[in-house]
Amino acid sequence: MEKILPIAQLGAPVIRAIARPVTDLGAKETQEFIDELMLTCNDAKGMGISAPQVYRSERIFIMSSQPNERYPHAPMMKPIAVIEPEIIWHSQEMEKDWDGCLSLPGLRALVPRYREIEVSYMNREGEQVKAKYEGFIARLFQHEYDHLNGKVFIDRVESTLDVVMEREYQRMMMEKV
Ligand code: ZN
Repeated sequence: MEKILPIAQLGAPVIRAIARPVTDLGAKETQEFIDELMLTCNDAKGMGISAPQVYRSERIFIMSSQPNERYPHAPMMKPIAVIEPEIIWHSQEMEKDWDGCLSLPGLRALVPRYREIEVSYMNREGEQVKAKYEGFIARLFQHEYDHLNGKVFIDRVESTLDVVMEREYQRMMMEKV
């Protein structure tokens, strides 16, 4: 039975740990875990979630971009499992835009990230994939990739003035429309 997993919050040691390599991707248990991670991401209305965020220190994350009330302008993308990812190239250009995180609920911040990246990873079938992302999806990938290395988005802010509370962020977005 698939279940929704509890989400670790900042302060849990697993959020700050370097995640371990995936040793048995083909195992039924690992595949079920990936399904549960996807279910948990969807239930929490996240755009992505990493294994450490559900107390499992392994180099796996989900990207699942679709517009919802937390991210009304997110692009549509079929949810994918990303295993053992690497960023193999990035643009010099960085862009500051909003990050949020299921492990730091209530906070948003303007975070500088590479505008374009080239990545390689394994899909859940164990096949090597190469991809190029830009903008929102590139940002999402870099955010989730950071989780595998014990980093969270507030580590990357240029100034504490770029950190805001969710409620004020929502108010700001409402006024923009
Ligand atoms: Zn996060």
